[in-house]
This record gives sequence, structure tokens and C-alpha cells, in this order.
Amino acid sequence: MAHTPSIMPADPSWWFADAMRAEGAAAPPLSGEIMVDVAIVGGGYTGLWTALALKERSPALRVALIEAKLCGSGASGKNGGKVHGYWASLAGMAKNIGDDAALSVARAGTIAQDAIREFAKNHDVWWREGGTLRVSAAPAQDARIAGYIQAARRLGVPDTAMALTAADVAARCRSPVFRGGVFLPEGATVHPARLARALRAAAIKSGVMLYENTAMIGLDKGAPNRVRTQNGQIIARDVVLATNCESAAEPLARAHVSVFSSYAVMSEPAPEKLAAMGWTGEEGISDMRMFVHYFRTTADGRVLMGSGSGPIAYGGGTTATKLREDAASALRAERGLRRLLPALADVPIARAWGGPIDVSADRLPFFKTMPGTRVHFGCGYSGHGVNPSWIGGQCLASLVLNAHDMWTNLPLCTRALPSLPPEPLRYLGGTAVRRAILACEDAEERGQAPPLAASAVAALPKLMGLRIGTR
Ligand SMILES: Cc1cc2nc3c(=O)[nH]c(=O)nc-3n(C[C@H](O)[C@H](O)[C@H](O)COP(=O)(O)OP(=O)(O)OC[C@H]3O[C@@H](n4cnc5c(N)ncnc54)[C@H](O)[C@@H]3O)c2cc1C
Repeated sequence: MAHTPSIMPADPSWWFADAMRAEGAAAPPLSGEIMVDVAIVGGGYTGLWTALALKERSPALRVALIEAKLCGSGASGKNGGKVHGYWASLAGMAKNIGDDAALSVARAGTIAQDAIREFAKNHDVWWREGGTLRVSAAPAQDARIAGYIQAARRLGVPDTAMALTAADVAARCRSPVFRGGVFLPEGATVHPARLARALRAAAIKSGVMLYENTAMIGLDKGAPNRVRTQNGQIIARDVVLATNCESAAEPLARAHVSVFSSYAVMSEPAPEKLAAMGWTGEEGISDMRMFVHYFRTTADGRVLMGSGSGPIAYGGGTTATKLREDAASALRAERGLRRLLPALADVPIARAWGGPIDVSADRLPFFKTMPGTRVHFGCGYSGHGVNPSWIGGQCLASLVLNAHDMWTNLPLCTRALPSLPPEPLRYLGGTAVRRAILACEDAEERGQAPPLAASAVAALPKLMGLRIGTR
């Protein structure tokens, strides 16, 4: 078996390179001082949806958005492009935040799905709606199927999750390792970077002053706030920090968010092989590992295979090379492709890449105003942000507008956030537990019992009362 990936992971992602081929010049960088009502920092989905929500609700508002690089060059332009809300998370959410709160978040996800679909109708973002399929790919994963079905039934929403036999799964996507699964009708796939760039164009069209290659280098909180950049500054009544993993280092977020990484490979086109496997229904698929494999097809017959198993960063930092260039994590994604979809065993890999993900202590994002300020921020998407960042945009817009509405009443804005262990325990413990869980899940995929020592370490998060890292 190969010990290095076919292609070393590197930026840009296949998606971002593809989207930028059709683009003109970057938006100009900020130079000099401007005064606005709202300054948004970060040009990924969260910042862009926030800008669009603000202009839609209050067209006269002066909104400026700065992006350190190019809009969509962060996670928004490199993700798997699997778009779904929270029905697949119902069981875990109900345990963590209660039944009613879980249902309110899942319903918000459906509103987000409708809104993204509406946006996609008018933009070439490869929106394809085939539902979400979660498959068991090892005997040890079988028991998890019942968890989805029971939660949906118990909470009175049985139509959101349907049990599938091995034959049902094979009818959607044939693989010798798929053993059964769950089908969730809510789910689409998208070209993530085209979505980000289309949001950027829509924001500019709506009157947002947008500056690329403009990093915030300092923020003086006050009334008004001052956002400092290399060659200018923005004076703004309200500031929205939509910087994703960078926000994880904010003092208010630090206790609640850790930074891990996720990796993906994109295959060359193989439409005839997909047809032979019967995978033509455009479903976005994941297995039932904790360090999940996520996969989907593209319109030209490629397969993206991702592995949410990348390393953890120390102290929420986002600059570590291993968050973007970890060969072992890219190799896990590639091995996942070959094992889960052996019909694609000899299809070449076109590109591999990785990036940081902001994992919150209960795997849900949060959106807050820093006490005593008009600075709002959000993060904690936990590797699942394409649909939720639309919700984030609504929540942040409502916080800016002082609106007490369904968005600010969501648990994503109101819940008390659980904490993670402090550093260096978080990094050392997170690294050890990650290795142990990978060892257990790899053994289970081989049909073997997990090693005893690894099982013991993998059990620690649960024993410590944590809500992540538990399986
Ligand atoms: C490999 C990978 C696969 C994923 N797959 C999926 C998936 O299939 N489905 C799903 O739902 N989610 C997925 N996710 C998660 C999803 O991509 C993110 O949750 C989502 O894109 C977050 O959007 P964002 O706007 O908050 O962050 P980002 O897109 O990262 O945007 C933040 C922006 O802020 C900018 N910025 C940072 N600091 C500054 C500063 N000081 N000044 C100015 N700008 C700054 C950055 O340059 C960046 O562009 C995946 C993530 C990764 C990394």
C-alpha cells in the first residue's frame, strides 16, 4: 500500500482554481479612511451572507467588507460543497441542547437550504439536489443507523430520516463495503468556490463596498469602532468579525473552540464508472466514522472524497503548516476513495488540499456580540458550514440591527457555551485522542477489534464529560 498521497496537498483547492479561471481582477484594496455603518471582516460565506442580509433588510445601510486575500479563498472555496442543515445532527443536538432547541436549529437549517437554493437558481454554482446519504461502511458503524431513525421518530419528524437496507443503498451507490444507511431528503451539492464568488458579485451589486487583499491588522473597539488595515481604516458603528478559524483565537471564543483540519482529494472525471456503480442520483454521502469520510460527485463525473481527520492546532492557531499540507491526512482521504468506492481504484487524483476547521465544544456554531461593544462575531461551524453560514449571516445581521427575532432567539445565539480543556491539555489530549480514535476506526474498517490501549484513550473525552471527540 502506498505511503504517500498521489498528490501532495496544497492551496488553491481544485474548486478555487476552477472558479478563478473565469474571473477578472480582484476588488481594489482599501486605501485611506472610510466611514460606514457596518464593517465586515472576512469574505467567506459568513461575511458575504451577512452583508447581503443587511442590505436586503436595510438597503440604506452603508456596509463595507474587507477580505485579507480573495473572497472565497478560505474554507468557503475549499470545502466539500455538501449542503445540508441539521436533520442529520438531531440526536446529538437533542442530547446537548434539548429537544425543542434541536428542532429549532434543524428548522432554521431548512430555511437556509431554501434560501441557498433560491440564490443558486440565478447563479451558475452547480447546485444539485440529491439528498444526503449516510452509510455504514464497517460492522462497528451499523448500530449508528438506528440513532438517526429513533431521534427523528421521537421528535415527531420521521420523514427527515429514512432507514436504508444494504440493497437500498446499493440502488443509490453500489459499493461492496456499504452495509446499510440513512437517507435524509434535505441535501444538495454545490461548487463551493463558485458559490462564494457569486455571493461576492451579489454583495457588490447590492452596494456593499468590498475590498480584497485587505487584512484587518487591528481593531480599536469604541463608539465608533476603528478597523485598521495596512493602508487605511474603516470607522464603523458596528463591526462583524467573520474570520472563521481566526475568530477561534478571540478571548471570548478561545475556551469553546479548537482548530482541527479537514482534507479533500478531487479525482479526474470518470462518469462511466459512476454510471456503472449506479451513483447518478447526486447524493452527498458520508460514512459513519467520527473522523468522517464525506464524498460527492460533480456534474463532469469527478468524485470529491474528504476526510475530516486532520491534525489539531495548538491554541486555536491557524498558521501551522500541518493544517494545510499534511500528507498523511490527504492520504487518508485518498485511501477512503479507494476503499469506499473501489470501482474508482485506478482513477487518478487531480488535486489534494486541506484547511482548518473551527470545532466548537458542542459541534454547533455560535454568534454573539462582545459584551459592552458593537462588535459581533461567530464561529464554531465544526466542519459543517455551507448551509449554517446562511443562518450565521441572518444571526449576525440581526445582532447588528438590534433585532430581537427568530435568529437572535436561536440557540446558536442564546445557549451557554460548553468549554474545552485549557492548553496545553487541549492540544496534548486532543492529539492523543485523535490518534487513538483513528487507530480504533481503522481497525474497525479492517473488521478487527480496536487495540485495547487506543480504546482506553479514545474513551477519555466521554469520561471527562466532553461533547466532542466521543464516539
Ligand atoms: C476541507 C474542508 C471541507 C469542508 N467540507 C464541508 C462540506 O462539505 N460541507 C459543509 O457544510 N462545510 C464544510 N466545510 C466547512 C465550511 O467550509 C466552513 O464552515 C465555511 O466555509 C465557513 O465560512 P466562513 O465564511 O465562516 O469562513 P471562511 O470561508 O474561512 O472565510 C473567512 C475569511 O476571513 C478572511 N480573514 C481572516 N482573517 C482576516 C483578517 N484579519 N482580515 C480580513 N480578512 C480575514 C479569510 O481570508 C477568509 O477568506 C469544510 C471545510 C474544509 C476546510
